[in-house]
Amino acid sequence: MAAPIEKKVKINKQVVCPHCNGTGAKDPNSVTTCPDCHGSGQVVRQQRSMFGIIQQASVCPKCGGTGEVIKDPCPHCHGNGTVSGEEIITINIPAGVDNGMQMTVPQKGHAAQRGGVNGDLLVVFEVADHDVFERDGNNLYLNYYISVPQAALGASVEIPTLTGKAKIKIAPGTQSGQILRLQGKGLPQVNSRIVGDLIVNVNVWTPKSLTREEKAMLEQLSTHENFVPKPGKNDKSVFNRVRQFFQ
Ligand SMILES: [Zn+2]
Ligand SMILES: [Zn+2]
Repeated sequence: MAAPIEKKVKINKQVVCPHCNGTGAKDPNSVTTCPDCHGSGQVVRQQRSMFGIIQQASVCPKCGGTGEVIKDPCPHCHGNGTVSGEEIITINIPAGVDNGMQMTVPQKGHAAQRGGVNGDLLVVFEVADHDVFERDGNNLYLNYYISVPQAALGASVEIPTLTGKAKIKIAPGTQSGQILRLQGKGLPQVNSRIVGDLIVNVNVWTPKSLTREEKAMLEQLSTHENFVPKPGKNDKSVFNRVRQFFQ
């Protein structure tokens, strides 16, 4: 399986206040235990009812459940312990991610107020288009052009793949629209051993401009019997082959 790629992204978020180190207090010694809840963060109310005494616990309104009271709050974060800031986060992107896939980076979300557990960072992937390859799931498609002489004579050509160049053989008499499949040269499926294919659509490049000399050569060839199109049964079935790949 291909190795994950590390990417650093800058995130705007709530970070630990650097002035009070997240305590929320201007002077850490000024933090005292909440007198209302005695540090538990909860207050218990008792109520008499026909079933007896009912006890109800709720968040202490004086300290907001922290169990502490700050006499002299930090002026930068107003006692919250967090301020707006940014952090550069390294994300390990697994090979084969596709549009809309999500990943959670634990505790890289907003810093918790006054020393609690930080939130998570939820990453949603959006895959940019590639200059050379088109993607369909795990498969990659490549449009590759060969010259008229290469199509007629056959050739050994180098095509780009994700992992560098690969040599492929062009058979003599190759027609435009011929499809070649390179197994395992596509994209891996995330968390799996499945790897897609690279599907090469071979096109024959027709020259768009010709010198007088080239024109004369081609005009001479055009009268030759072998240059008259004579598509056979296999050539006509090219649509079936294309259809098979897009199923
Ligand atoms: Zn309290
Ligand atoms: Zn602060």
